[in-house]
Parts: sequence; C-alpha cells; structure tokens
Amino acid sequence: MRKLFIAGNWKMNKTISEAVELVNSLKREVVDIESVDIVVCPVFTALSEVADLVIDSNIGLGAQNVYWEEVGAFTGEVSPKMLKDAGCKYVIIGHSERRKYFGETNETVLKKIKAVQSAGLSPIVCVGETLDEREQKKTIEVIEKQLKDGLKEIKDDNLEDIIIAYEPVWAIGTGKTATPEQAEEIHKFIRGWIKENYSSDISEEIRIIYGGSVKSSNAKDLMSQPDIDGALVGGASLESQLFVELIKNSL
Ligand code: PEP
Repeated sequence: MRKLFIAGNWKMNKTISEAVELVNSLKREVVDIESVDIVVCPVFTALSEVADLVIDSNIGLGAQNVYWEEVGAFTGEVSPKMLKDAGCKYVIIGHSERRKYFGETNETVLKKIKAVQSAGLSPIVCVGETLDEREQKKTIEVIEKQLKDGLKEIKDDNLEDIIIAYEPVWAIGTGKTATPEQAEEIHKFIRGWIKENYSSDISEEIRIIYGGSVKSSNAKDLMSQPDIDGALVGGASLESQLFVELIKNSL
C-alpha cells in the first residue's frame, strides 16, 4: 500500500514572515493526519525558518530547485548539501517552469537526481507534456523520453526513493485539470514503464503523484484512481485553509 504524498510547491511566493505564518497554521490543522506524507516547498530564503518549525512535525520540507555541483564558483546556485543543511528532505527537479524559463533539460534533470541522491535527499521528478504535444497525440512519446533520458543511469535501489510527478503543462496554474481518467492513463503508463525497465516490485512501490490545478474539489476523484498516489500542488498550497481542505478531501 503506497502512502499518499501531497506536496505544496509555493513557487516564487511568500516572504519569510508569510511563510512562517502559513506553516504555523498548516501545522495546527494537520497535526493528526498520519496517512499522508505532507511536504511544503518554500523559496530558498525561507527554508531554514520553515525547517525550524516543521522539525518535529508531520510536515516534510522540500526545495524547488538545486544545482548538481557540491561547492564552487557557480554564482546564484545552491547545492544538495546546502539544502540538506537547511533541513530539506526533498527537492523538486525538472518542473515545467524550470524547463520552460531556465533551460532545464532531461540531461540536467539526470545530473540533479544523482547529486541530490548522493546527498541523501529524495527527488520529486516532474514530467509532463505541453498542450501542443497532447494535441499532436505525442503525450506518451514525450513522457517516455523524459523518463528514459531523465532516469537513464538511475539504478533500481535509487529509483525507489524517487517520487515522480506527472504534471501536464497545460494544466499547471491554468485552472484546467486533467480529468481523473486522463491523469490515470498516464500514471498507469508510467508505472508500466517502470515495471518494464526496473521491476514489478519497484513499480508497485514507487509513488507517482499528479500536478496541475489540483484543489479540494477535485482532489478526491484524482487520488482515488489506482495509480495516482498524491499531488503536487501550486496555487492551492499558498493558503493554509485551501491546502488543508485539499489534504483532508484526499483521504
Ligand atoms: C505546480 O506548480 O506544480 C502546480 C501543479 O501548480 P498549480 O497547482 O497551481 O497548477
């Protein structure tokens, strides 16, 4: 039985004091929830403060990006070791906004996964097709390439620790959610791909979460699909009440 995994991707939102307020409220509201791995991914500047607040709680901490080198002359970058030092357990890698605006590729995704795992962090690896690719019926082809190239040298033992987020680009921040059936079709494909390329056991264990305009009203329908094990949530994770409702409606 795979435990639900629900992560809030705050993107470039929240000052330190706003982040502290949100997490304090979230902590109170989800204190009794044990059946979901709840994670928040604030901006870099708020990581340490949020880490102090969640340290003994049922909320995990993730970062939204990372660089693959450990230390050195890489102005503006943050290494896996530094994220670990700040209290992170997870890192989002390959988000479509990073692919679109910051030149993230399947090759850099692979480098980041390896670096993050060497530092003892768990990657949340995002894959997903654009609207154009979907309309051209290339969804499976695109996802398969993202998996094949992004996970190219990742061995069985390391795959278990990865969370895959299927995020159709056309559904992110648009209010346009994939239907549960559309999402399940791709999740099932991803699980099948893992079975074929790794093993049946790993394909049963790995968590594949959905992202793209998830909110409290559609969370249950999405997460009751057999291959959807949680959600990566943008907009609806920015207000404690919305995120809490979404989590509770997913149970
Ligand atoms: C995301 O940023 O990963 C995301 C899914 O955003 P939203 O929930 O706002 O669509």
